Amino acid sequence: MELDIVNEIEKGNLKLYEIEKITKDVNKAAELRRKFLENKIGVSLENIGKYHIDLNSTYNKNIENAIGCIQIPVGIAGPIMIKGDYANGEFYIPIATTEGALVASVNRGCSALYESGYVYTKILDDKMTRAPLIKVKNITHALEIVEWIKEHFNDIKDVFESRSKHLKLKNIKHWILGRNLWLRFEAESGDAMGMNMVTIATDLAIKYILNHNKDAKLIALSGNLCTDKKTSSINWLLGRGKTVVAEATINRDIVRNKLKTTPEEAVETAYRKNILGSSFIHSYGLNAHFANVVAGIFLATGQDAAQIVESSMGVSIAELNENGDLYVSVYLPSLEVGTVGGGTHLSTQSECLKLLGCYGSGNPPGSNAKKFSEIIAAAVLAGEISLLSALASGHLAKAHEEFGGHKK
Ligand code: NAP
Repeated sequence: MELDIVNEIEKGNLKLYEIEKITKDVNKAAELRRKFLENKIGVSLENIGKYHIDLNSTYNKNIENAIGCIQIPVGIAGPIMIKGDYANGEFYIPIATTEGALVASVNRGCSALYESGYVYTKILDDKMTRAPLIKVKNITHALEIVEWIKEHFNDIKDVFESRSKHLKLKNIKHWILGRNLWLRFEAESGDAMGMNMVTIATDLAIKYILNHNKDAKLIALSGNLCTDKKTSSINWLLGRGKTVVAEATINRDIVRNKLKTTPEEAVETAYRKNILGSSFIHSYGLNAHFANVVAGIFLATGQDAAQIVESSMGVSIAELNENGDLYVSVYLPSLEVGTVGGGTHLSTQSECLKLLGCYGSGNPPGSNAKKFSEIIAAAVLAGEISLLSALASGHLAKAHEEFGGHKK
């Protein structure tokens, strides 16, 4: 039976995506795809076939044409003490990476912050967005539709929110460029990152709007002003997902003993590197390495990896307090995370979320995703102070030599 299936694939009588129809089991189908590839290409896929996740739980949800799983090592940084509106107490941060020195660096930052007390976090805004693009007759026509939307906002909201009890439509912003009208739907999505829910709800709402405005035509449900999986000034200024901030003060002696630099050197490095260097090249990353920490946590916890692009935009600042201590803060305008939906339910990823005490639906709904985003902001801050200090003290290359497997 197995050989027959592989033969049928080889002869082109069975498509790779049709195997589940016969096996009724995704793990078995994955094994047969591996066999087909091993025969055809002449490579061994033995290790991709050794995994713990039950691929049946991913069917029609997370992956198509599954052949197995790759594995990424996961390490722990912490503890770190957080006082936020949702995250409160001591946390150990799971970071999945193959970059030696990263976990050690974040761990050092956590340790300096822990000895100094709390990292304080706040969420400034929360919304997932989708921005369809509509072709209109002219600018007057675009403004007529915008006016109609304002007058019927509550009806549109009802249509939009009929998709899920966890959706709350907050706003529909607009931009007009000649015969193009973009509508940016902004909605809270509870504990879900929200991109599926908001996309489907926007589709319902836009059909309702166009039913009442016949001369306009939908060009694309996503007109790129959303903006998903791309850096953009719109997410930078208006936010997407969670707009979250963190701040802390590190005692001068801790900066010296643990971070091996001085507050003055750290402030100067942060200003010249993060602010001047990044402004000079018009970067959306006025920071040292938000992406390292965001990516490590995203991979560990089943977030959508492509959203690391905009989730790791942001600013990191350092200032000298009057008493000589070091004040540090990070600003993440567009952190797109969820604790339900997407890849969060996978067995290994859900364990990492449980480690942080924020797996699944929060009580009240939305509070788990907010707690998670505050934890990420605090971890990002830990990563920033550690790398900045390594640069300020000239220890960066040495640390990578030691932990990155490059020691000669
Ligand atoms: P989802 O997995 O599509 O949906 C989450 C579902 O969880 C909701 O429909 C909601 O249904 C339910 N739910 C239960 N408890 C909840 C709670 N406390 N808060 C919120 N929802 C709760 O997740 P999503 O976040 O909307 O979408 C994430 C997925 O979208 C990822 O896989 C990502 O890769 C993918 N994605 C899609 C697009 C796109 O354009 N479609 C773009 C980028 C990424 P009820 O409210 O009905 O219970």
